[in-house]
Amino acid sequence: MPIEKHRVEQATDLRSFSDHLQAMTKGFKRRCPACGGAPLFSGYASLRSDCHGCGAHLEPFRADDAPAYFTIFLVGHIIVPLLLLVERAYSPETWVHMVLWLPLTLILSLGLLPLIKGALIGLQWSIGLRHDAHGWPERGDD
Ligand SMILES: [Zn+2]
Repeated sequence: MPIEKHRVEQATDLRSFSDHLQAMTKGFKRRCPACGGAPLFSGYASLRSDCHGCGAHLEPFRADDAPAYFTIFLVGHIIVPLLLLVERAYSPETWVHMVLWLPLTLILSLGLLPLIKGALIGLQWSIGLRHDAHGWPERGDD
């Protein structure tokens, strides 16, 4: 068992940074991280169990809450500085802030969430981080 685990870790370590980046880019484009051709999601952000293009088994790759965390982090770092800049420069009424920033926050969040989820699935696929039937992480070599 330890020999097999070592072999799996060695196989995943052979992938270069550009391989990881390429898989994340394919995922960010909402495409299969293996072939880059077929859609990764069946709906807004529902991961397909298998790729229709290459047959890659995608079901073990689960991003869980990570896309939401990264989306909130990114959108917060975009909206809050812009809000502070507008407040400092123009000091608009509160209702102007509400009309401006609430829709922009919603649009950015909903727009970025599937892209970030795809990138995280691509990263998991690239490093071989899978989840078993109970949702616990396990490592594989393909
Ligand atoms: Zn594929």
